[in-house]
Order: sequence, then C-alpha cells, then structure tokens
Amino acid sequence: MLKKKIEKAFNEHLNKELFSSYLYLSMAAHLDANGYEGMAAWMRIQSQEEYDHGMKFFDFINERGSRVTLGAIEAPKKEWKSPLEIFEEAYKHECYISKEIHKLMDMAIAEKDYPSISFLNFFVDEQVEEENTAIKIVDNLKMVGDRGVSLYMLDRNLGKRGAAAK
Ligand code: MG
Repeated sequence: MLKKKIEKAFNEHLNKELFSSYLYLSMAAHLDANGYEGMAAWMRIQSQEEYDHGMKFFDFINERGSRVTLGAIEAPKKEWKSPLEIFEEAYKHECYISKEIHKLMDMAIAEKDYPSISFLNFFVDEQVEEENTAIKIVDNLKMVGDRGVSLYMLDRNLGKRGAAAK
C-alpha cells in the first residue's frame, strides 16, 4: 500500500491531470468556435492524453492497494484573445504540471518508495516532451503573427496530428 501522504498527493495529482484534460478541451472548444479547426483537433488529442495521464495515476493507486478518491474538477477558463494566448497558457500550465511531478518525485525519494519513483519517471520524461511541444507551437505562432495565410497553413499542419492519431 502507498503511504497515506503519497496516496493523498497522488489523488490530488490525478485531479490535476483531469483538470488539464478539461482545460485543453475548453481550449479546443474555443479554437473550434473561432475557425481554427486544426488547432482544435490538436487540442482535443492533447485533452485525451491528459485524461490518459490521469488514468495512469488511477491505475497505479489501485495497483498499490490504495484508494482512489475523486474530487471536484475546477471549471476551466472559456475565453482567450488569440491562439497565441491559448498555446502560451498551455505551455505555462505544462511547466506548472512539471513542477508538481517533481514535488511528487521528491516525496517518493524521501519516503524511499521505489515503485512510485519508477512510476513517476515516465512523467518526468513526458513533461520534457510536453513543454517542448507547447513552446515550439508558441514560437511558430509568434513567427506567423497575424499573417492570415501563414496562420491558416499552421492550423492545417497542427490538424495533421489528429489525422495521424486516427
Ligand atoms: Mg499530463
């Protein structure tokens, strides 16, 4: 079984991953409503990934003979000024999640909980990828600025993630 403090922290993190999923789904809805179909598809896949991350915590807590407890998921923001603002926020959110994962790792190390350390290693690596992917899109959006044709092309390109995933 997980130590009580780790069980509590993992349950709280499960909620954070589910919130991430909800936040990206809200971003997808906003992008879709504003005609950015490709980015909306990209964000929707991102939302699914975050749900899967949450489920990894769900399964791990169960596998360790501990108890999953689900709390309320905070309502996400609904409106943004631009795709750039959306992806900047997604990047900042991933940096926050990385810090939270590192805190969990600190706790697992302090408690000498080797299975949890091994489990969390996946997330340490995953967060490097998540931050990198988000910042690259932010950079691309800055490069494109408000040039309509380029923005359209970028939107189309990001939409290919959806096609590749299906
Ligand atoms: Mg995640």
